[in-house]
Order: sequence, then C-alpha cells, then structure tokens
Amino acid sequence: MEKDGRFRLKSAYNLVVEEEDNAPDRCWKDLWKWKGPNRIKHFMWIVLHGRLLTKKELTRRKITTNSHCNLCPDQEETIDHILRNCSKARVVWDKFQSRTVANSMSLPLQDWLMINLRHHDTATEFGIIIWQLWKQRNEEVMEGKVFSKNGLFARIQAWFNIVRNAQENVQLTSTSNPPAGQVRNVSWDPPLEG
Ligand SMILES: [Zn+2]
Repeated sequence: MEKDGRFRLKSAYNLVVEEEDNAPDRCWKDLWKWKGPNRIKHFMWIVLHGRLLTKKELTRRKITTNSHCNLCPDQEETIDHILRNCSKARVVWDKFQSRTVANSMSLPLQDWLMINLRHHDTATEFGIIIWQLWKQRNEEVMEGKVFSKNGLFARIQAWFNIVRNAQENVQLTSTSNPPAGQVRNVSWDPPLEG
C-alpha cells in the first residue's frame, strides 16, 4: 500500500499500461469508423480489449468462485462463450447468419470481431447483436429477467430499426444544405429502452 497519492496513481497507470500492452490498437481506426450508438462502440472497445467482466474474469479477480455459464454448466463463461459458443448465442447467430461475414464463425475471437467490424454492409448490425447478447445475459443474471428466443430476436430487430432510422435521419439532415463551414455532430444515442 502506498501512502502517497502520486505513487498510487503511478501504480494504477502502470497496471493499465501493462494490461494494454497486448491490446489490439490496430482496431482503433475501424472502431472509430463504426456507425452506430456510442454506447455500443464503447462496449466493442471493451470486448476488443478483453475487458468484459465475464464470470471467468470475475473468478480470476477472486470476486466469485463459479466461472461457469448459467446455461451451459460444463463451459466457462468467457467472452468467446458469451458472444459465440453459448447455446443462446448459437441460436441467435443461426437466426442472424447474414449479419456475419460468411465462414467467419470459426476464426479466433479477435479476428472474427475485426473482420466483422470492417465489413461495411453488416458491421452495424453485427455490433448490435453482440451488444444485445451481453446485455440480455446481464439482465438475466442481475435483474432476473427471462428472455425467450423470440423475445431476444425481437429486441435485436427493434435495435436494428432504431439505429437504421437514426442513421437515415442523420443523412437526411446532412443533405439539407448545412451552413458552409459548419461541423456537423453526427454522434447520437438512441433513448434507453423502457
Ligand atoms: Zn453458455
């Protein structure tokens, strides 16, 4: 324990630098270009840096002792498990197959994320799906909510629509003669779900 605040800060900084050493910094540009709500962009940044607080990670940090997925008792809840290999994720990807790059599911996690982030046609919807897979899991664990397969599909579809509508509105405003020299702020965030 350091008594001096400066030292504490320095230690914390070193810890962050250490953790980020292997971070996929090449992803920055692609993530920057990703079109969609900032909260999902932020989520993807966390995923790409392996910082999602999965049960496996909580066990590593000694916050909990059970690292297994609630749905798949023989599997650890890792990022890869939540986003691809969990029985629930598989059902979602079966349904929304067209939102991933063909044959990308068997790639290593980071490669799968990057190739899909860069794939312009489906990148936004891909981001929405992985965010929703995490979000519904959290809501099930923390709030005791239960999502049926169709309920989850419907929520993902609803977010596709929210984001698409918002993008169309941005395009519409940006083509209606913006004052010369004005920098448009196209960053936006859809309202929270009710
Ligand atoms: Zn599972």
